[in-house]
Amino acid sequence: MRIETLPSGRVFTFVEAKPYVRKDGTPTTIETWESTCKAEGCGKFFQITVPAGSTPTSSKSFYRVHCEEHKLTPAEATKKWVTACVASNTKVTPEIKKQILDMRHQKFTVPQIRAALSIELSASYIYSLIYKNNS
Ligand SMILES: [Zn+2]
Repeated sequence: MRIETLPSGRVFTFVEAKPYVRKDGTPTTIETWESTCKAEGCGKFFQITVPAGSTPTSSKSFYRVHCEEHKLTPAEATKKWVTACVASNTKVTPEIKKQILDMRHQKFTVPQIRAALSIELSASYIYSLIYKNNS
């Protein structure tokens, strides 16, 4: 059984591989992986589809944490993250800052960035980083 374990400890299990034809007509393979929703009291399975051979390093789909029902909007996700970070005060190195901005640039969502970093950041820092760099 193929599994992928994220830095956060979350696990995806391989389901199946299927042939797929791209828009330009070239054949390829897509893989389906599944994990469980982390919303409290849910735990429902949800699936992601990625190009064959994808890993958490190459595909942001592996950072999904919620089923369809519990999927957060980007605004909700940001608010939730900030709330969770209020009490902590992790020192942010230039490398971490660069990684966060790079991931934002690649359209990763806040929870995906958080899962990738596995660190807690202060609220003021997150606000300044996200809103300063998006305007
Ligand atoms: Zn759910």
